[in-house]
Formats: sequence, structure tokens, C-alpha cells
Amino acid sequence: MEFKARLVSWNEIVDWCLSIRKEIVNSYSPEIIIALSRGGLVPGRLLSDYLWIKDLYTIKTEHWGITASKDATAKIREDPTIPVKNRSVLIVDDITDTGKSMKLASDFIKKLGPEEVKTATMLHIDHSSFKPDYYATEVSNKEWTWFIFPWNIYEDVLRLLDKAMTGEHTEEEIITLLASNFDLNISRQLLQDLLSNFRQSGKVFRNNQKWRIIRTS
Ligand code: ADP
Repeated sequence: MEFKARLVSWNEIVDWCLSIRKEIVNSYSPEIIIALSRGGLVPGRLLSDYLWIKDLYTIKTEHWGITASKDATAKIREDPTIPVKNRSVLIVDDITDTGKSMKLASDFIKKLGPEEVKTATMLHIDHSSFKPDYYATEVSNKEWTWFIFPWNIYEDVLRLLDKAMTGEHTEEEIITLLASNFDLNISRQLLQDLLSNFRQSGKVFRNNQKWRIIRTS
């Protein structure tokens, strides 16, 4: 197996964000949420609703260029003037894995003179160099998994196919490849929906019953 990947459901997202809310409500009163784009956008939006915080901003950190392959440094893309001065801030992301994005974002926000900064992620991998103040689930590094969030499914599965497919493959073969390379079980129906999008977007090519990735590099 190359590494483990798994599909995350919308229900899990809701449960994880509700569990973060429960912890926060007893210990912190943030006035503003900053979601890290893109992974923290949906959790940030949910927490904005669950915690009655309408002041929701985003900043973009970039670190993982492509699915499950990391480049060395994380950086803040934009330099926004977010009104954090003297206010209690909650920074939200989907996962702390290396921890670099969250560390970078929290250092960046602290320099803007907030009253207090706390951080929250749905998932926290225990090897992360940064531990969020709030997280719903801790994942052991031994169980390291690429989590395919529902908002990133096309991008992630295409990247996994790109790693696993060597030539032309039938749908059955693709399902087997995903299972053997990533321990990822996806239904025939989901695969067909994904392939249909990839085909319309010029990412894959179909020849009779076989599929091939169109590689640009
Ligand atoms: P952090 O610095 O918060 O640990 P990284 O910089 O390692 O996060 O990764 C940045 C983004 O890459 C995450 O917010 C997430 O969207 C994505 N990512 C990183 N690791 C994983 C993973 N194991 N599964 C799914 N997505 C991940």
C-alpha cells in the first residue's frame, strides 16, 4: 500500500464541528473567526453558525501543493487587514498534519494585536508540531491517512488515480487499484460520477471500456 486514504462524509464534518463547538462554548468567547483557505472554509462557516459569530474572515496559507505530497515551507499568500486588534480570535482549519499552516497563521494573526488567539481543527495528527487548542479527533501518526474531505473529492481522487494508474484501466481495475494502493473502497456509482466529471474536464480519456489519465507534465 502506498498510503491510506479515506472518504469523509458530510455527517462526520457536522459531528466534528459540533464537538468543537461544545468545547469552545464552555471555555472561550471568540468574537471573530478566521478560516484558513481552502481546507478551513467549510468548518469555519459551520462554526460561525454554531457559535453565532458573524465576523468570518479567511486567509490562505500554502503548503501542500498537491494531494499527499508536501513541499518544504508554508507561506501566507495574502496580506489582509483583518480587524483583529483587541479582539478574541478563533482560527479554524480542517486538519493539523505537519502543523505548519496553523503555526504560520497564528503567528501572523498574533502580530496584528488581537486580545487572544485560539485555534481549532477537526482532525489533529499526533505528530503535528502544532497542537490546536480545540480539535474533535486525534489521529495517531501510525494511522496516518489522507482524508478526502467532501469538498475536495474530485481533486483528491484524481490525484490518487494519477499515482495508481499506469496505463489504460477498466472501472473494475480502477476500483481494485484504489483499494490495493490506498485501502480506499469506492462504489462503482461514485467512480462513474467522478470519471464523468474528469472526462468533461479533459482530465481523463475513455477508449471503449478503458480509462486513461491525461497527463500534462
Ligand atoms: P497543517 O500545517 O495545518 O498541519 P498542513 O500545512 O500540513 O496542515 O496542510 C495544509 C492543508 O493540507 C490542510 O489544511 C489540509 O487541507 C491538507 N492536508 C494536510 N494533511 C492532510 C491529510 N492527512 N488529509 C487531508 N488533507 C490534508
